[in-house]
Amino acid sequence: MEEKYQKDQLWQDCLNNIKVSVSSAIFTTWFSQTHISKIDKRNDRIVVEIGCPSSFVKNTIENRYFGLIQDTLNKITGKSCDILFEIKAKKDKSNQNLISTPLFQQNKEEKDINFIEEIKKSRLRPFYTFENFAVSSSNQMAWAASEAVSKNIGNAYNPLFLWGGVGVGKTHLMNAIGYSVKKNDINKKVYLCTGEDFTNDIIEGIRNKTTQKFRDKYRKLDVLLIDDIQFIAGKDAVQEEFFHTFNAIVSSGGQIVLTSDKPPSEISKLEERLRSRFEAGLIVDIAPPDFELRCAITQIKAKEKNLNLDMGVIQMIAGNLDSARKIEGFLIRLRSAIEINKYSEITEEIIEQLLGKRKDEIQNKKRVSSEEVIEAVCNQYSIKKKQILGNSRVKSFALPRQILMYLLRTELNLPLQEVGRIIGGRDHTTVMHAVEKITKLASESVDIREDISGIKKAVWG
Ligand code: ADP
Ligand code: MG
Repeated sequence: MEEKYQKDQLWQDCLNNIKVSVSSAIFTTWFSQTHISKIDKRNDRIVVEIGCPSSFVKNTIENRYFGLIQDTLNKITGKSCDILFEIKAKKDKSNQNLISTPLFQQNKEEKDINFIEEIKKSRLRPFYTFENFAVSSSNQMAWAASEAVSKNIGNAYNPLFLWGGVGVGKTHLMNAIGYSVKKNDINKKVYLCTGEDFTNDIIEGIRNKTTQKFRDKYRKLDVLLIDDIQFIAGKDAVQEEFFHTFNAIVSSGGQIVLTSDKPPSEISKLEERLRSRFEAGLIVDIAPPDFELRCAITQIKAKEKNLNLDMGVIQMIAGNLDSARKIEGFLIRLRSAIEINKYSEITEEIIEQLLGKRKDEIQNKKRVSSEEVIEAVCNQYSIKKKQILGNSRVKSFALPRQILMYLLRTELNLPLQEVGRIIGGRDHTTVMHAVEKITKLASESVDIREDISGIKKAVWG
């Protein structure tokens, strides 16, 4: 076999395997531009060198997907593979244009007029799908739960309750569930509405004496998706109707998915019976995106807008805009700037100008792992890792442990469940209480504040 063919073929096989274990957004972002640059056979081992287009891609793949790549290569070759990463762009760069082809080709059924009509009727948006949802530690739980629900409606978690701040992807994920259900079975009755739409519908039903019509519309659904459910709190007739809708759908095997800006326990004026229904399902929070996720989102949104950006520019955008909504807004401005000024190249200067920041204001926040934070907290309090992650309730361990949870949550933006997992498999409510407690303590005690800033200094410099 010719060596080039062998390299390309092996990598193709490897990527085909990897494709099924990561989301397409992650795949496109991190893997699509990699290649095998060299294979070296040494007796029963194989050394494989993997070329990455930039140091950023290299570091990310090395840190997060090393094991996955190695396992896959071992499996395919039947030998032990040692892998090395290096920065080396593929020679045949085919795509040099600023405006590229769309990232996600729609497949045949999605172009089908009937399918499009059905999606509209369900009030779903065709762009908010699992394929273009990027996953990282801040939203991994929510994504996995949503995927599970879409594959097994009524059985996985019911209801699925997603909550989090503005722009973290709640609506996108909820929509993706509905879209995926429809794609698998066009006959499933799916409906997405906001808490406000639901409220208006029921009020209209009461006013026009058409509540039966309302019930026929909602209670027979296979999947009901209500965005911003907190809106119905405090509205008695609406909560009453929702309660019966909920029961009717769940008891006939249907699925309910809800989103909110707060967890059920913190929505004031929410009827107790609704709260307990919500709490019987799965409640997952989504934290604000970390730097890596913002890079992936920038890439996805750029491709959606047919913009071809290189990694340096992507990092700059993601490093300076802290939410998905801001990134999207920025890309819209960038696209108009390109068209108006007829730029032939998107340079860092153009980005700087559009960001409206001077070079020295441009952020390049260091990426930090949970291990580094654990180590710094242990150093600050002169305790061992085993003690901070252990079960002892002695104050000299318990307080540092709570500070650790606080920092993982607020500085690394990890979701509650993920923090709980890192701290030796604790419940998400434990984490929530720790964060609340330390927030309060930090506002009252100078000592605590100084401890925290000492740790931050050690980690972030
Ligand atoms: P929320 O409902 O939580 O306020 P949205 O779902 O409306 O947030 O997300 C805001 C924008 O950011 C949307 O355009 C969405 O597609 C995008 N977005 C958010 N998170 C992600 C993600 N993980 N991957 C891709 N796009 C995302
Ligand atoms: Mg929303």
